[in-house]
Amino acid sequence: MDAIVSLAKRRGFIFQSSEIYGGLNGFFDYGPLGVELKKNIRDCWWNDMVRRRDDVVGIETSIIMHPKVWEASGHVAGFSDPLVDCKVSKQRYRADQLFFAPVIVEGKTVGYVSGLESENTVGDLQTAAESFKRKKAIQGALAPVAIRDMTEATPEEIPLIPSPATGEPGSLTAPRAFNMMFQTNVGAMTDASSVAYLRPETAQGMFVDFKNVVDTGRVKLPFGIAQIGKSFRNEITPRNFIFRSREFEQMEMEYFIHPDADWLACHEEWLKWCRDWLLSIGLPDTHLSLHEHPKAKLAFYSRRTVDIMFQYPFGVQELWGIAARSDYDLKQHQQFSGVPQTWFDEGTKQKVVPHVIEPAVGVDRILLAVLCAGYAEEDVKDEKGNVEKRTVLRLSPRIAPVKVAILPLLKNKEALVVRAKELHVKLKRRFAVFYDEAGAIGRRYRRQDEIGTPWCVTIDFETIEKDGTFTLRERDSMAQRRITEAELFTLLDEQVY
Ligand code: ATP
Repeated sequence: MDAIVSLAKRRGFIFQSSEIYGGLNGFFDYGPLGVELKKNIRDCWWNDMVRRRDDVVGIETSIIMHPKVWEASGHVAGFSDPLVDCKVSKQRYRADQLFFAPVIVEGKTVGYVSGLESENTVGDLQTAAESFKRKKAIQGALAPVAIRDMTEATPEEIPLIPSPATGEPGSLTAPRAFNMMFQTNVGAMTDASSVAYLRPETAQGMFVDFKNVVDTGRVKLPFGIAQIGKSFRNEITPRNFIFRSREFEQMEMEYFIHPDADWLACHEEWLKWCRDWLLSIGLPDTHLSLHEHPKAKLAFYSRRTVDIMFQYPFGVQELWGIAARSDYDLKQHQQFSGVPQTWFDEGTKQKVVPHVIEPAVGVDRILLAVLCAGYAEEDVKDEKGNVEKRTVLRLSPRIAPVKVAILPLLKNKEALVVRAKELHVKLKRRFAVFYDEAGAIGRRYRRQDEIGTPWCVTIDFETIEKDGTFTLRERDSMAQRRITEAELFTLLDEQVY
């Protein structure tokens, strides 16, 4: 993970927000290459989800909405994470990410150990238990630890569990609900009546505008409304780089279906669509898995939720949630606003409140996944046969920030430079391309490998003296072949879509 964070900074993908002031935890900036990569991810999703489908339309709603929206949606009352404070260190923890275990020797509990969720939480707590036993010089066989998180601690156990910050028991509080919505005030007055929220999800925009779209958009069930935009959550413990941040971007789609439709089949279809889409932007299937939320843990209105998980270097984590949300959201808004949220069924001549299937994904989590899956350090041979290291980012041509680098073999040969610049002008009308004439050709290839450019085109003597073809060098195989200008355009048309 450190290598990826370092590359992201070094090559201008991602910076800490407000870095010159020491940064702000949970906020990030995207640099020149990062912003291109992010835009490409968004554009691919928008093209595939909205433009290339006949049954989905797009919208863009405001970040600050009427505060009643969040009462109706349940966020004011219930959008919270369980929070545990350490009264001594003033550290705050998410209770479901803070684990503990009794230390049991010869059947007797002799103390407690604790630790934050990690790639190997059980192993870490087992080691902590062994060390506890050794320090206290307790004799006898140690039982394997049985870990639980702080939401499962009994009131009697809480004072006995050590704080991860101090290592001592007695300072942790019982978990309490912490609402994650950022509050602000709208207008000149700052009183209770002016309180508003930065949206914690984009989805409510689609529900609140459902009637507007139905009345103006000539849509027929089943149909979807999609949106891409920023969301804000005051996460207790932002972590794992951009995986969990406080300001992030979501791509969500609400697919409205008839109440009598086969919702399970529809849910399965979207699950497949989402997984296929992730493959289409280059994520390896081997890193993807599904997590079905257990029935007992589902919200009361949810019929089924399945997450597409991705194997990040810090563990298998949620990337994309696909939820069957019944008619809960529209019914809530109908009740709170007093405005019917219905669709007129021409067949039965009845008004119905549609049900919804919701695929919801974070752009930043996808971006981190493609960086993690694409990053490699390899031993390769240079032109003289010497082994050297190359860092390569295997990004799909669909999302790579630069599609082609145009390189004149030598910068002091005018004819090469003129032809290269001519090609550059022609290509950049349609594609993100990069012109580079500085340094040895091998070094220029390496620079492009590191930022994920799928192809380099070298303008060499054969180009200007013989048949006009260029050398096309492929990032992944490093193979080189000759290609005509027309073939280059065809290649890009096929691969960059
Ligand atoms: P988690 O359990 O990881 O907190 P969630 O289940 O609360 O996520 P949803 O409310 O379903 O997430 O949001 C939909 C998607 O938005 C998630 O699958 C994820 O890709 C993205 N997302 C949610 N919270 C964050 C965050 N703090 N930072 C970055 N992306 C996020």
